[in-house]
Amino acid sequence: MPTPIDPSSRRDFVTRLSTGLGALSFTPFLPRALAQSSAKKQGKLGIALVGLGNYAGKQLAPALEQASDCYLAGIVTGTKEKEGVWAEKYGIKKANIYNYRNFDRISENDDIDIVYVVLPNSMHAEYTIRAAKAGKHVICEKPMAMNAAEARTMIDACERNGVMLSIGYRLHFDPNTRELMKLAEEKPYGAIKYVQSEASFIMGNNLKAWRLNRALAGGGAMMDMGVYSIQAARYCVGEEPIAVTAQEYKTDLRKFKEVDETITWQMEFPSGAYSNSTTSYNMRTNRIYVSYERGAASLEPATKYTGIKGFVFKGQNVERTLEVQPINQQQRQMDGFARSVKAGTPSIVSGEEGLADMKVIDAIYRSIANGGRRELI
Ligand code: NAD
Repeated sequence: MPTPIDPSSRRDFVTRLSTGLGALSFTPFLPRALAQSSAKKQGKLGIALVGLGNYAGKQLAPALEQASDCYLAGIVTGTKEKEGVWAEKYGIKKANIYNYRNFDRISENDDIDIVYVVLPNSMHAEYTIRAAKAGKHVICEKPMAMNAAEARTMIDACERNGVMLSIGYRLHFDPNTRELMKLAEEKPYGAIKYVQSEASFIMGNNLKAWRLNRALAGGGAMMDMGVYSIQAARYCVGEEPIAVTAQEYKTDLRKFKEVDETITWQMEFPSGAYSNSTTSYNMRTNRIYVSYERGAASLEPATKYTGIKGFVFKGQNVERTLEVQPINQQQRQMDGFARSVKAGTPSIVSGEEGLADMKVIDAIYRSIANGGRRELI
């Protein structure tokens, strides 16, 4: 697992300010269209969001307004009405608005450096591969793909086309989450013995939602919040799991006819560390607990966009409180990738990181289908 770095340290921020790269944030009076061309001149990379749903509209686009190394340059949408609304709100040039049919022409557009795929899960591979073929760097949302084999084809396509691939793992840019990664790396409280990770929410009753449709979602809670719990166990142990044993539990056969409702699974790690995780579309859980030889750490909430907080324990006593950090995870994540692209250094949340999670998910579904302990392949 890559060593987390602080992608938006204060020193970087001050340097950018003095070199003028951060200037757009301080020029809100510029007309929007002018601000866009100004952003390009200031060395920001242009991002095109593909799929203008909840996450793109409520989190990513607002975060891009705060970004220092990238900006919202384009959109890809199948809904005609969204074109005008987004163009006006974010000052997007008409030439930078695409739909799913003419998407491949994005290859001719120098304003777009990075394509960010924010579509239903089954569409991640197709649009990542098309973006790579168009010569654009890619950020793909989680889960990276429908399975590990598909994730591998995405990595290969990006490599073949000489573009960089990153997964939307925003928590790697959260300071409190990084504290847990550091404890796994430096082991000040001794070896990691056990991780408990839980991430769940209660799914609404719209039976037509794509998240309840196997063809579009690939699975249920596991393909959604489950990814966070796998991630948590991997970065809190700092190793790759070798085997998984999983159990499925279902109470609503109508709502969860096609996809999983609740899954609990255990992972074994090479050092002997062990994890137990739960994900569900029918409960509210959101926490991480790590037991070390001589202490412990916790985060609760552990995966929310804001408010991540927790404790570090020495023995049984609180040694440190991990206070809520006033940061925007999505802004840090996108700026972090933009800087990786500019520097030509791999993203700390590369395609390989997404692939590692997909291998675990494959093993979890194999364990549920056939029972018992399944080694990762
Ligand atoms: P959403 O339903 O709100 O948006 C999906 C978008 O895809 C919509 O604009 C929809 O019009 C478009 N779309 C195109 N073709 C479609 C089709 N055939 N069926 C349904 N929609 C279609 O979903 P969302 O919550 O924005 O999630 C999008 C992706 O982002 C998912 O992969 C999800 O896992 C991921 N996500 C990540 C985070 C995070 O914190 N990293 C948070 C939320 C969602």
